[in-house]
Amino acid sequence: MGRVDAIVIGSGIGGLVAGSLLARYGWRVVVCESHAKPGGAAHGFEHAGFRFDTGPSFFCGLGDPASINPLRQVLTVLGEELETIAYDPLGIYHLPEGDLPIFCKLDRYREAIAHFTPQGAQEFAAFEQRMLVLYEGLRQIPTLSLRPDWRGLGEVLWRYPGALLRLLPQLPTIQGSAGDVLDATVRDPWVRRLVDLECFLLSGLKAAETVAPEVSFMLGERSRSVVDYPLGGGEAIIQALVRGLEAWGGELRLNAHVDKVWVEDGQVRGVKLRRGEVIEAPVVISNATLWDTVTHLLKPEVVPASLHQLANQTAAIDSFMHLHLGIRAEGLDNLCGHHVVLHDGETDLTTPGNTCMISMPSVWDASLAPPGHHVLHAYTLEPFEGWQRDHTYKDKKQARAATLYRAVERVIPDVRDRMVVERIGTPLTHARYLRRHRGTYGPAIAAHQGQFPPPQTPIPGLYRVGDSTLPGIGVPAVAASGILCANALVSPAQTAELLPLIGKRP
Ligand SMILES: Cc1cc2nc3c(=O)[nH]c(=O)nc-3n(C[C@H](O)[C@H](O)[C@H](O)COP(=O)(O)OP(=O)(O)OC[C@H]3O[C@@H](n4cnc5c(N)ncnc54)[C@H](O)[C@@H]3O)c2cc1C
Repeated sequence: MGRVDAIVIGSGIGGLVAGSLLARYGWRVVVCESHAKPGGAAHGFEHAGFRFDTGPSFFCGLGDPASINPLRQVLTVLGEELETIAYDPLGIYHLPEGDLPIFCKLDRYREAIAHFTPQGAQEFAAFEQRMLVLYEGLRQIPTLSLRPDWRGLGEVLWRYPGALLRLLPQLPTIQGSAGDVLDATVRDPWVRRLVDLECFLLSGLKAAETVAPEVSFMLGERSRSVVDYPLGGGEAIIQALVRGLEAWGGELRLNAHVDKVWVEDGQVRGVKLRRGEVIEAPVVISNATLWDTVTHLLKPEVVPASLHQLANQTAAIDSFMHLHLGIRAEGLDNLCGHHVVLHDGETDLTTPGNTCMISMPSVWDASLAPPGHHVLHAYTLEPFEGWQRDHTYKDKKQARAATLYRAVERVIPDVRDRMVVERIGTPLTHARYLRRHRGTYGPAIAAHQGQFPPPQTPIPGLYRVGDSTLPGIGVPAVAASGILCANALVSPAQTAELLPLIGKRP
């Protein structure tokens, strides 16, 4: 039986950020990961010489010390660097009307939009401008300095008075949705659908349901910082976080499934692993989803009614179909690394199978595939309902992957002749390998309808991080959730000591 200061359940990016930052603050931390590999949705896997990203492959600001990406700030204070490749355009949207390159440089993006709708391009400029004003305000306050409590707000007010003056007029936008800004600036239906698509790729929801700061961060970072990809694949990020955790004295345990959080007399005491071991700690941080935390990690009798209600009332976004391919690359020169295919403009873009994402990171890092080959990951939303491992599973898998093949064929028409490796993943695969409730992408919490919950829970000593906590889904967001959680556990003075490392005054 061991005893530490904090146990983190899960090594997703949120869990690793919280754990490594607490280790950086001098805490004794153990991260227990159920899987054989760290990273959760961002873990990588290898098959026949191809190295695949399982989830994210769109990143920004990783190689830019001036970026406001919270993940970049955490890597800096851990003393970790990533070698990255910057690229522009960041991708191509294959729409029913034609292909739109998504340039990071906003004037080029507007020009590309103008090919489809000159009036819409002008309106888009107004939307973009409103979002960038917000971004300029937000960038004055480093995420690393934030805490999820009123004490934190006081600190920020004192430390960055100028930024608050800038942000004050933006308060309605900050609290609203991207859809509110869209309604105020854009009438053109083509551009409105484009913004919906951009929001959907970010949050899993359309503009009316996506919070405005998330979109302002996305537009701001991609135009003012860089869009870049880490050499070694998405898992290079995970390796850097694990190195940082261990360099500051923390420990990562793999194949260490946590069976239950140990709660006694209403207070967290530690965790019990599936293999029987008990680890004691006054603080336990769950990186499992809200639903998994409530249903699997806590005994029903210790779950407060409010937490139960939160889990029951929070809707989950669908899961995914995945297609991982290794393909021959001859003749595929100057390919863009990201593609989004919208099959049918008349059907809602959130309908499972209608919008398909494709990433080919070997375009930037040739070492991810054997010489002369590319690695490709395509995915689309897919409901969890109806999936079971019975005699129909194999055929259903092929049938539901057809929409992904159709999308890839829009980019590489002869892809089936080029295939040397094929791996198809279903919602069951997603739920199993990522240990996620119904394989969900995350909570469907729409702007105006609620907020992502903070890291604190009603159980003293129990905290949560990851994409079912504030500020939401996506790599920068879950990194921010890890920061909020770690900062909630230390004094503002300890946090202030780190700020000079990212070029901010203490
Ligand atoms: C297909 C896909 C593509 C994406 N693309 C992008 C992108 O391009 N850019 C971007 O910014 N975001 C992207 N995202 C979103 C982003 O990857 C996720 O929001 C983020 O990685 C989730 O991190 P997390 O910290 O919430 O935890 P998760 O990644 O869910 O990790 C949680 C960890 O906890 C572990 N765990 C759970 N229960 C237990 C237990 N009982 N005991 C021990 N361990 C446990 C799990 O095994 C897992 O490792 C994508 C997501 C997906 C699925």
